[in-house]
Amino acid sequence: MIKNRLRQGIVDLPRQELTAEVEALGKELKRVIDRRFKGSFQIREVDTGSCGACESEIISTTNPIYDIQRFGVSFVASPKHADALLVTGPVSRNMLLALQKTYEALPGEKFVITVGDCALNGGLFKDSYYTLGGVDKVLKVDLHIPGCPPSPTTIIRHLLAFLAA
Ligand code: SF4
Repeated sequence: MIKNRLRQGIVDLPRQELTAEVEALGKELKRVIDRRFKGSFQIREVDTGSCGACESEIISTTNPIYDIQRFGVSFVASPKHADALLVTGPVSRNMLLALQKTYEALPGEKFVITVGDCALNGGLFKDSYYTLGGVDKVLKVDLHIPGCPPSPTTIIRHLLAFLAA
């Protein structure tokens, strides 16, 4: 992540363009969530060993600029209330059981979404003795959102493409 930041800087659109893009994506996301999930798509997030930057971007989706809740997406404390499990970071050995138990607690159809390159294949941590690798070593992954870390707009865009498919 630090290498990426030094190489490309922090790239984002000017505020007005960003807001217009988020509004357009969000409008479509809300339409899809209203149709498929009765207006509410709930996510339980589990960090299995990330550096914290993926969480920072995920949290940003709920800030006043993005405000993803108004489009029908919310983050919940209990997996029993969740439609999807969202995982960040490589799977570290001490988080394996927690990840499996959280997944088992999800009711009904269980979607697994991974965010960030570490969740795909271990990323920067893949050679660590304490890492099992990507989340797909443990669970079937339905959607991967790439990046190190992905921006809030990227997260929203991938979520929309997945739910609309
Ligand atoms: S993908 Fe990048 S930002 Fe996300 S946890 Fe891994 S190192 Fe951190």
